[in-house]
Amino acid sequence: MKKITFESMGISSEITKALDSLRYYQPTPVQQEIIPLALNNEDILTESQTGSGKTAAYGIPLCEQVIWEENKPQALILVPTRELAMQIKEDIMNIGRFKRIKVTAAFGKSSFKTQKSELKQKSHIVVGTPGRILEHLQEGTLNVDEIKSLILDEVDEMLSMGFIQQVEDIIDYLPKERQTMLFSAIMPSEIERLAFFYMKKDHKTIKMEKSEENTPDISQSYIRVQDLPKEKLLLALLTIENPDTCIIFCNTREVVDKVDSYLAKAGIPIDKLHGGMDQDDRSDVMQEFRIGKLRYLVATDVASRGIDVDNVTHVINYNVPFENESFTHRTGRTGRAGKTGVA
Ligand code: AMP
Repeated sequence: MKKITFESMGISSEITKALDSLRYYQPTPVQQEIIPLALNNEDILTESQTGSGKTAAYGIPLCEQVIWEENKPQALILVPTRELAMQIKEDIMNIGRFKRIKVTAAFGKSSFKTQKSELKQKSHIVVGTPGRILEHLQEGTLNVDEIKSLILDEVDEMLSMGFIQQVEDIIDYLPKERQTMLFSAIMPSEIERLAFFYMKKDHKTIKMEKSEENTPDISQSYIRVQDLPKEKLLLALLTIENPDTCIIFCNTREVVDKVDSYLAKAGIPIDKLHGGMDQDDRSDVMQEFRIGKLRYLVATDVASRGIDVDNVTHVINYNVPFENESFTHRTGRTGRAGKTGVA
């Protein structure tokens, strides 16, 4: 069988050169499915797991199709969290580097004014969280006349965070003639309803079966905790496992604060991430974790989205999450990009 490459899918050298430097030598299965359809302007509903390479699956065709000379945004990407918005901005800027593609991220708890002036300048692609994007639309600071593609990413999460009404309000502002791509790890009926109302009737549906190639290699185990002080046990576990890079998930900010100060006092190089911190602090912590300056991170679910750090060796659920999907997303922070992981 002939090997499928980005070139054989019609991706231009400007983009493949950037993919090479990112070490994306071959399209992942989800990319092999999506890219040809996306280049053909089809509407696509995709059920796929995190870590499958789906950001590039839509990011590559978007970069390929962007018209550099057009100053108004040509694609809008909606995502559930700020971290994910920042991550996607970086991913797409890397893919579109040689085409000099400009990506603007717009999310809450960050200066509206700065975003407004960024949006006034050339922005080929805009990625943001529903609340802030809607605000820009209501204030007239985001022009959507030239939007050709709408991407709804991690829709299951937007649904469980209660963002769907805002997503629908945003869609009402957009040109009717457009391409819509929807990505979700699961497909509850509410998402099928969205697809029915907002996507073309002949949209393509892609379900990536869990195959070895698509399923991360994560070894999972649990520890029964009875009356023991849990923090002490966690410290013992970290000492025995000695992870290279580890994220500890808790259900609330209060528990994050408690675990962070307990482990820091014990001399563990740790910092924390939760929704109550201001954006600059969150970005600083993420950056330190990404570049490996920080080996341990304790976080709420806010952080389980968009932490695209390839080398997380261990994920610990300090609290059992309330929802099944949270569990999948938390553990999915390890075993990424073909590596193995421990949860
Ligand atoms: P995602 O599912 O978009 O979160 O991507 C998961 C990880 O796979 C990210 O770290 C990407 O940088 C990486 N990735 C995406 N596409 C490729 C590819 N074609 N080859 C190798 N790594 C990739």
